[in-house]
Amino acid sequence: MAVPFYRHGLTPEAGARIAEVLASPFLTSGPQGARVEERLRAFFGVAHAKLTSSWTQGAIATLLAYGIGPGDEVIVPAMTFAATANVVRLVGATPVFVDVDPATLLISQPLVAAALTPRTRAVIPVHLYGQMVDIPALRQVLPPAVRIIEDAAHCFEGSLFGRRPGQDGDAAIFSFYATKNVTCGEGGAVVTNDSDLAALLTQTVLHGMSAGAAQRFQGGTYRHWDIDRLGTKANLPDLLAVLLEPQIDTVEERLAQREALSLRYERALASTPFTWPTIVRGAVSARHLFPIHVPDNRRDAVLAALGQAGIGATVNYRCVPSLTYYRKAVETPLVPVSRAWGEGTLSLPLFPDLREHEQDEVLAVLLAEADATRMDEEDHRAAAP
Ligand SMILES: *Cc1c(COP(=O)(O)O)cnc(C)c1O
Repeated sequence: MAVPFYRHGLTPEAGARIAEVLASPFLTSGPQGARVEERLRAFFGVAHAKLTSSWTQGAIATLLAYGIGPGDEVIVPAMTFAATANVVRLVGATPVFVDVDPATLLISQPLVAAALTPRTRAVIPVHLYGQMVDIPALRQVLPPAVRIIEDAAHCFEGSLFGRRPGQDGDAAIFSFYATKNVTCGEGGAVVTNDSDLAALLTQTVLHGMSAGAAQRFQGGTYRHWDIDRLGTKANLPDLLAVLLEPQIDTVEERLAQREALSLRYERALASTPFTWPTIVRGAVSARHLFPIHVPDNRRDAVLAALGQAGIGATVNYRCVPSLTYYRKAVETPLVPVSRAWGEGTLSLPLFPDLREHEQDEVLAVLLAEADATRMDEEDHRAAAP
């Protein structure tokens, strides 16, 4: 591939860190993970952090800890990755899709307010593409018992007016999946200031057991454990957790590279018919992705042209309630902004060591496609009565 969609930044030197874990007694969650959790608490300025095997498992463990299940509703944006809604279904609750703001593509606060019912137990705002939803403002439109569980899979480095994920929500959940800004291949974390949630999470990430492996053998004598609520299996092994610490040290450097590349795309595409989300004043975007919107049903043609040139591009995302499973599983909501964005969007290669000459290859294809899109638009105008 001439320009890959994503190239990870982990090097074989990281193998030495894994070798250290292999030389210790702990293969699964142990002292290495505890160190990373300490770093996450400090980075996000929160009281508790729990590493998980993925965002998905962290979210399921959080929903189980809050006792959210059958008969409950959870409000989610229609424009997000399907996992945001899937976890709600997986615990037996009902996702209620609401539309997003046309400028930012973030969940619309007035539409959240309009979607509340007596069954609403939580909202999962998504910090889409790296820009944070305004959590204190969202809180103001919610009854006090409704939880805010932030989907921060795109937003490790992002902030809004200096506030980071997890500081104002009930919990924020990260993904360390292979293509995310901070990665260990597969992984995640839940951060929270809610001590009750943190205590419940230690159970719901481990089958619901009242004592983890280390506590069961504390002091050399075996202690019985019990299960008083259902849990999943969501803990992250030390074998993977060791890969995270060096990335937390250098996250700001890599954000600066993502920012510079994003601004370079924006400058080069400024006079094309393509558009992209607005980043509001006061926001620092984690610049996880660089999505554009292609008008006039030409998205798939642009995707094909990029593919032919050997350039990796993806779609983030198709509107979730229009996916086959959700068309069958839930009442189809009116979400015109999410639908239109989902039908026209594609994401360009963006990762810290993307080279300028590689980015120029991407831009060459896009500028040619912009001309084709413009000609299409002129044809449409000429054909109009
Ligand atoms: C990647 C992603 C997830 C799921 O993360 P996993 O760690 O793969 O479970 C959830 N939400 C969003 C917005 C994502 O991009």
